Amino acid sequence: MITRDLVIIGGGPAGMAAAISAHENGVRDILLLERDQYLGGILNQCVHTGFGLEYFKEVLTGPEYAGRFIKKLSAVPAIEVSLKSFCVSLTREKEITYIRPGALERIRAKALVMATGCREKTREMTHIAGTRPAGIFSAGLAQKLINIEGLLPGREIVISGSGDIGLIMARRFLLEGAKVNAVIEIQSTTRGLLRNVVQCVEDFEIPVYYNHRISRIRGRDRVEAVDVVKVDEKFNDVKGSDFRISCDTVLISVGLIPENELIEMAGGMPIDGIFQCGNSLRVYDIVDSVSKDSAETGRAAAEYLKNA
Ligand SMILES: Cc1cc2nc3c(=O)[nH]c(=O)nc-3n(C[C@H](O)[C@H](O)[C@H](O)COP(=O)(O)OP(=O)(O)OC[C@H]3O[C@@H](n4cnc5c(N)ncnc54)[C@H](O)[C@@H]3O)c2cc1C
Repeated sequence: MITRDLVIIGGGPAGMAAAISAHENGVRDILLLERDQYLGGILNQCVHTGFGLEYFKEVLTGPEYAGRFIKKLSAVPAIEVSLKSFCVSLTREKEITYIRPGALERIRAKALVMATGCREKTREMTHIAGTRPAGIFSAGLAQKLINIEGLLPGREIVISGSGDIGLIMARRFLLEGAKVNAVIEIQSTTRGLLRNVVQCVEDFEIPVYYNHRISRIRGRDRVEAVDVVKVDEKFNDVKGSDFRISCDTVLISVGLIPENELIEMAGGMPIDGIFQCGNSLRVYDIVDSVSKDSAETGRAAAEYLKNA
């Protein structure tokens, strides 16, 4: 089995920053594995502006922000990038199995950086009762469908949760000609950044119902409506406060969870020589902080290799 000095799993902003920094700190054999066909991670579908203010002191879109790191990374021959390479298993001995077109590969890493990002919480995690018709999407999936695939997943939208992705998608749906009937937030304030509340929702006069939750999704083949109920400070339903909002699409935007299946597969506990960064470590609000912290992770992996 081939042994590589440093393997990085995930080619989003975290993985790219870690790779560049590890190289700057002396590592000369780096393999970056990315399951997608492009580097850049989730930034590729974030076509709105607001990235890079802290890191580059400029306002960039997600793809522009990612592009800066891709350019830098591509100029370093010591960093080998393997795209369409999906890591499917990891052991405590840092043996990695990954699938790439036409091959199943097994390699060992002296040091490993996990930069696998995060995933979105689902409807099931928020316990919304009702039927299971077509038309229920996580906000990130809807973002991918519109911004990458060019598909509009619905025409009358209700959004559950006021996380940043949901707020940004409220504006996107509106700009694409759909109607956004409401954002429903169980807390008394938004979970998103203030700038997103102002620029994506208030500026477009989209109603936000704080202290409310979707209690039921209605519809047989396709979503037809949602029932909404007010909640008290203990999140109990307020009797008699129910009302119905018609819609054909429900977006779920209730938070992200770090993607850690491979680490769990390897035993779950801290393992010598395995480092973690970006959203797979903790959910970050803005990508600029991901890049900054992940560079530190790359440096730490380089230090580890010096003493390994
Ligand atoms: C839907 C969505 C929208 C977002 N929108 C914004 C926004 O508008 N503004 C903002 O500042 N932040 C946004 N974020 C937060 C954003 O995720 C972070 O700012 C940043 O992209 C995190 O970088 P990362 O590299 O940790 O994760 P990601 O960008 O998610 O990159 C992780 C990479 O790991 C790869 N990967 C995962 N598992 C494997 C595996 N087993 N094998 C190989 N490769 C793997 C993935 O394909 C992906 O390319 C959004 C997040 C999500 C989920």
